Amino acid sequence: MVDLTKSADVVIIGGGVMGASTAYHLALKGCKNIVLLERNPFFGQEATGKCAGGIRYQFATEINIRLSLLSLPMLDRFEEELGQAIDVRHCGYLFLLTREKDIQAFEANVVLQHRLGVMTEWLSGDSVRSRLPLMCLEDVLAATWHPKDGLADPSGVVQGYITGARRLGAKCLTDIEATGILIENGRICGVKTPKGEVSAPILVNAAGPWASRIGEMVGIQFPVVPLRRQIAVTTPIPGLPLDFPFVIDFAKNLYFHREGPGILTGMSNLDEPPSFTQQVDREWELVHFDAAMARMPILEHAGIISRWAGLYEVSPDAHPILGKVPEIEGLYAIVGFSGHGFMHGPACGLLLSEEILDGKAHTLDVTSLRLSRFRECKPILEYNVV
Ligand SMILES: Cc1cc2nc3c(=O)[nH]c(=O)nc-3n(C[C@H](O)[C@H](O)[C@H](O)COP(=O)(O)OP(=O)(O)OC[C@H]3O[C@@H](n4cnc5c(N)ncnc54)[C@H](O)[C@@H]3O)c2cc1C
Repeated sequence: MVDLTKSADVVIIGGGVMGASTAYHLALKGCKNIVLLERNPFFGQEATGKCAGGIRYQFATEINIRLSLLSLPMLDRFEEELGQAIDVRHCGYLFLLTREKDIQAFEANVVLQHRLGVMTEWLSGDSVRSRLPLMCLEDVLAATWHPKDGLADPSGVVQGYITGARRLGAKCLTDIEATGILIENGRICGVKTPKGEVSAPILVNAAGPWASRIGEMVGIQFPVVPLRRQIAVTTPIPGLPLDFPFVIDFAKNLYFHREGPGILTGMSNLDEPPSFTQQVDREWELVHFDAAMARMPILEHAGIISRWAGLYEVSPDAHPILGKVPEIEGLYAIVGFSGHGFMHGPACGLLLSEEILDGKAHTLDVTSLRLSRFRECKPILEYNVV
């Protein structure tokens, strides 16, 4: 029987990368009485555990680039800080561009990235073709490349933060679902679970694809929809170089990276309707594999060793909703990361801990990420969504 604390200073709903990072950073700043609730039997089994592990500086908006500039060095220091290996690999991201309109958009992105100190390289089609002999790249007009982009292990990151938070006194609990939220006179008072109530003045919505369900419990609309995205990992590919990069065929929403001796590949179905379905869609898989084999013919000789589907948690402008929700005192959100949240988990947990304990995030100004931007018609548009 789990010992559910009767009261806490902060309750966090969700034990993916966002909840875990928030718990750790709150505890690190001295907040002792933290309760994190995860309804699954293990932490990090949903979007975080199902993600492709990509980490990149190459974004199209200043706020996303600044989040990467804060977050990726935190991943580089992670093992030293938390004692947990997370296999950071700077294999680089290569965005393949095959359409004129993308050339123009990515040229502007590179200018912005350079202004912020992210020295992305512009490669000609011929240069990409000579770098990737295993791929069919005749139609590639150009590419962008940043060698410090790469990969890290999402489960390691969650485990490291949970262990770190516990070491600092936080209670991180599995098998407990938040089923209701207690509010009095417009203030958070606590959370209901089948195992009892926890009273608390502060509540963090870190429920990932289920963020809007938490919103429904308090009458606040979090515009975050769940979208199925799926991945397959192949048997070993002979001749696959150790430094094979994270390759994104941008126009096709198709990506590849090295996973052990094989390839991990994913392709977003832009016609996927919002739902919580996490069954692998076999019809889409055929479309995906046709596109993947056209780009990388050697895959025709490979088998599939694993496949899975997970949920993106998508906001209307593909940017997160981060910070205080002023309509209800004590309510905070760290949701809506739209398919690239794993890499920003370290930074966003830190920033939310500042917002909660210091009244405002100060390491980076995140006011543009407030929930009210949608009502105020001030969305931020991100072009580099895969
Ligand atoms: C196929 C795929 C590939 C991806 N690839 C990348 C990538 O390469 N790089 C990248 O940066 N990002 C990637 N992402 C996105 C990334 O995984 C997410 O943005 C990120 O993991 C979101 O973390 P989270 O903590 O918000 O959500 P989650 O990891 O889903 O955690 C939310 C948790 O809340 C729990 N929960 C929900 N409701 C309740 C409740 N009522 N009570 C208790 N617990 C509750 C859930 O069980 C869940 O564990 C990918 C996602 C998918 C699906």
